Amino acid sequence: MKIKWKDTDFIPPIIKHIIEPMLKQNIKLSAFPNLNLYVGLVPDFEADIPKDSPWYPNLRRPHYTEHEGQHYCVVKDLWKNLLPVTSIMHTLAHEIGHYVHTVYLREDLIAWEQWAKEAHKKLDLVPRFEMGYPKVQSFEDFANGFAEVVNGRMNPYYAKLLRGKL
Ligand SMILES: [Zn+2]
Repeated sequence: MKIKWKDTDFIPPIIKHIIEPMLKQNIKLSAFPNLNLYVGLVPDFEADIPKDSPWYPNLRRPHYTEHEGQHYCVVKDLWKNLLPVTSIMHTLAHEIGHYVHTVYLREDLIAWEQWAKEAHKKLDLVPRFEMGYPKVQSFEDFANGFAEVVNGRMNPYYAKLLRGKL
């Protein structure tokens, strides 16, 4: 896991609300290979995307994306002084959740069924469009479940998955 930031104010909360709770659950940072967190800035390859590209609006929101074998969680706007820092950390953790299901569950239906059972969620992998963006409900539920780490309430499933114990 690598972190790039614009605003160092966000480093202590990332450590306090995301890194430390994971370490407490025996999740090692090596469980996140090729993951790059961008806090307050965008990766160079995204900065080159033209404003008239259909992808451009989505890049302005917090998002998860892959590029040349690397994975990126990007929270460009930090809404400093507008949102509580824990809410921003929840957003960042949510995007990391998308990394986790992309890398660990991939499109393995059996793995998704196991997640639904252990996380007590309904499995819904049907892609839909919502406000112009593609969305898969179980991807969002998975990411939200992972992001509970910020509140110290992560379902044990996620820790087992990331420790390679499933
Ligand atoms: Zn999401």
